[in-house]
Amino acid sequence: MIITKFGGTSVQDAAAIERLVRIVAARQKEAPVVVVSALAKVTDALVQLAESVRQGRSAEVEATIQTIEDRHKALAAELPGGTDALPALEERFEGLRQLLRPSIGQPLTPGQRDALLGQGELWSSAIVAAVMRGKGLPAEWVDARTVIVTDDRHGRANPISAEIRTRANEVLAPLLSSGRIPVTQGFIGATASGRPTILGRGGSDFTASLLGAALDAVRVEIWTDVDGLMTADPRIVPSARTLASATYDEAAELATFGAKVLHPATQLPLAAAGIPIIILNAQRPDGGGTIIGPTRSSAMRADGPIGSISWKRGITLINVRAPRMLGAYGFLRQLFEVFERHEISVDVLASSEVSVSLTIEDRSRLEDLVRELEPLGEVTVDERRAIIAIVGHGMQSTPGLAARVFGASQPANIEVISQGASAINLTFVVHEDDGPGVVQRLHQAFFGT
Ligand code: ADP
Ligand code: ASP
Ligand code: MG
Repeated sequence: MIITKFGGTSVQDAAAIERLVRIVAARQKEAPVVVVSALAKVTDALVQLAESVRQGRSAEVEATIQTIEDRHKALAAELPGGTDALPALEERFEGLRQLLRPSIGQPLTPGQRDALLGQGELWSSAIVAAVMRGKGLPAEWVDARTVIVTDDRHGRANPISAEIRTRANEVLAPLLSSGRIPVTQGFIGATASGRPTILGRGGSDFTASLLGAALDAVRVEIWTDVDGLMTADPRIVPSARTLASATYDEAAELATFGAKVLHPATQLPLAAAGIPIIILNAQRPDGGGTIIGPTRSSAMRADGPIGSISWKRGITLINVRAPRMLGAYGFLRQLFEVFERHEISVDVLASSEVSVSLTIEDRSRLEDLVRELEPLGEVTVDERRAIIAIVGHGMQSTPGLAARVFGASQPANIEVISQGASAINLTFVVHEDDGPGVVQRLHQAFFGT
């Protein structure tokens, strides 16, 4: 069996859904499971809706729900078979109004917020399943919350793989063996007791890989709006090239440091079993795409030391200067305990004789962090930073690479430099405003365009 996952732009309108149906139909013999995201921009609109609810703007809440409802119904009505989804859509939008009305003027609880943010996938999948049936395919709508079991960490729940494997084999495997095509939602799950959760933004890719691992898929296809994993974000570097292949760890590093095309956890469930991920462009289904697996094809390796350059803005840099403490036993443990207590992950870390610098993305606990770090040394905070990551297996064996990287980054001021132990990445921090320029200059230096 295979997993075919379609992102927001790949279900965003009638033409996109028609393409999806053709892609899935061409794979029917391979027993596909279809995983879909919400229509493009819908999850963002739901995040905004949660905010309008909190601020007590009831007219705005009603208007937003109506706009989203109209968009989905118009899309369903435009496609053959789509009208079969209308009763389910009506019911779900009514349920949403009932969920939100009592909360107007208050913040949603984390559980309510997850239930709200996950609606987009429920709507899109209802339409996709109906249209597939309208086109004669044996589609079967499956509620992902009956399969993707997670803990109760709302906002970014952790999947429970053993439970998912059991449920996938109970719920999805029988459909596949009887020749049907399950159509389910990315991004959403539920706790063992059935409370809705989400896997974090961009989490539909992760759903695809969790299901791929649970069902021992032969491959996981991620259908999106670009030709594959590229040498840089094509929105920053329009001349970026598509990589024919990348390794799991390269893809994970790039995704962690901003390559939005893949959720950073996607490779985790698949790497142990060696199940390949293929990133493909739904608008050009016959293009080659990028294959992500245990090794890179030799053709790519010959191409140069660097696979790709990514960047992530909105980063906060924290520096702790502790001239006497740093060498002292237990200092780093105390430092990390502060971050652990607040469940804030550190992305880039560098230390010198007298100071430690580290970056975080989540600023929600910044004041608490600083207050608790102050007993350890003098703390300074620099906001609006960006991490630049240069990733590739060839880097290990290329002398002088760092000098080329820093030379090409000029005149941006480089603040923290870190090279992972695996040596497949070199990361550094610059001011956010310098980020795009640095990425463009590095791309020019290493890829010639
Ligand atoms: P989907 O909705 O299909 O999940 P996303 O918007 O999450 O799609 O991810 C696709 C986008 O990722 C592309 O449109 C592209 O702008 C961006 N992107 C960032 N870095 C890269 C990269 N290195 N290679 C390809 N795409 C990238
Ligand atoms: N719809 C969700 C989001 O926008 C999940 C996804 O698209 O992967 O974050
Ligand atoms: Mg995505």
